[in-house]
Amino acid sequence: MHRSAFPAYHSSCGWNALLPKRREIPVLINDTLCDVAIVGAGYTGLAAARQWSLRAPDDRVLVLDASEIGEGNPGRNSGFLLEIALANDADALQIERMQDCNRLIGETMQEIRDTVQRGGIDCDLQRTGTYRAAAGATGELAIDQYRAFLDAAGLPFEELDREQLEQKLGTRFYRRGLYSPHCYLAQPAALIRGLARMLPASVSIFEHTPVTSLNQRNGRWTLTTPEAEVVADKVILANNAFCKGLGTGRSRIVAMYTYAALTPRLPDPVLATLGSDASWGVLPAHRLGSTLRRTADGRLLIRSFYGYEREDDTKRVAVKLADNLLRRFPQLGKVEFELLWSGATGFTLNGAPIWGAAKPGLFVSAGCNGGGVVKGTLFGKLLVDLAFGLPIPDMQRLFGQASWMPPEPLRRIGFHAVAALERRRGLAEV
Ligand SMILES: Cc1cc2nc3c(=O)[nH]c(=O)nc-3n(C[C@H](O)[C@H](O)[C@H](O)COP(=O)(O)OP(=O)(O)OC[C@H]3O[C@@H](n4cnc5c(N)ncnc54)[C@H](O)[C@@H]3O)c2cc1C
Repeated sequence: MHRSAFPAYHSSCGWNALLPKRREIPVLINDTLCDVAIVGAGYTGLAAARQWSLRAPDDRVLVLDASEIGEGNPGRNSGFLLEIALANDADALQIERMQDCNRLIGETMQEIRDTVQRGGIDCDLQRTGTYRAAAGATGELAIDQYRAFLDAAGLPFEELDREQLEQKLGTRFYRRGLYSPHCYLAQPAALIRGLARMLPASVSIFEHTPVTSLNQRNGRWTLTTPEAEVVADKVILANNAFCKGLGTGRSRIVAMYTYAALTPRLPDPVLATLGSDASWGVLPAHRLGSTLRRTADGRLLIRSFYGYEREDDTKRVAVKLADNLLRRFPQLGKVEFELLWSGATGFTLNGAPIWGAAKPGLFVSAGCNGGGVVKGTLFGKLLVDLAFGLPIPDMQRLFGQASWMPPEPLRRIGFHAVAALERRRGLAEV
């Protein structure tokens, strides 16, 4: 079996562990024909499945996932659903483009919210807004750039100094920051489980069914899985960085593993020191910085560090994450995590996605980098409209196209060199 065609984690998904057990979805064991096969039941794949069944209600839509819904990658993120472009996308010189992106992302967030409400999906979805905070000079520059973007775009925000951040979040770690209301927080494993449950009956999902190869024969596509073959007229690759294991995007995407951990529920006297909001989220000003959350059920989450194309030893990572959290919240005394896990992000050199028709009948959307819950939903939906020949926005102008990366071993060497440089620049934010 080609392991690089799908992810396999050593650690269980922490968010999923907090949820009740669910009824398992079957493994594909019989050879099958379908109109469209979608590889990956993440935000992109489920949005594509939903849109396909809307456009062609009588078509047979198959979604194949290597993992379990909730346990796999879509359940492993930090649960920030941004309604506007990420800070590292922000450019005050490109306001018109960014405003068009923001409008599409905002509409998609609205659709997610409607689906959550309609389906009664219990995923703690709340419009809390988000903080972006800087601990050092490099972070402050990024904050200034983001503020210039928000200003030029006429988007609301609040500036906070160290004292104000301490009052909101209970930490004196950051020099200054921005608060933007355009963000929701959610329990991601509960969200993806709910989204899967809301799919129409014409969509069949199979779990523990990794696609290990993809071939074109007589104008149709054959997908090989461990126990069966699927023959499809059309294929959508929505499996993020692992699309390259199926022959698409090899020179444009890598799997970057990152790590998250949750404390147990903290005692009330400690919670009373963690700011005025019952639930908040902080995104780092620098891309190598740490993400933080105070969850609705009284835990702290920290996400940080990256591993190139492989999951590092999580015991070693646990020590570093605990140290990061303690530096921010010395009032914790010591940090012991209840849950710690990793997840793979699809990383491209310029932050733009691989999106569009790769070959006749083969479509791909991959590489949302660190922010694909809302963007993935948008991209999956629009990919289907592209497949149906319907009018779509100019995706290349709005979101760009993933740039070329040199082959291995140059790619790995280059990544480690850039990461070392960036780490030095953004050391204060880690
Ligand atoms: C720790 C962490 C924190 C993050 N925090 C955030 C955040 O707060 N907000 C945000 O927007 N984004 C965040 N991200 C990124 C976000 O998770 C991704 O951008 C998003 O999940 C992408 O959605 P997707 O559907 O395109 O791909 P994925 O969520 O990666 O889903 C791809 C699916 O394809 C399946 N798959 C892969 N290969 C195969 C195969 N060969 N056959 C069958 N199935 C296959 C996988 O099992 C997976 O279920 C974070 C990521 C990590 C790892």
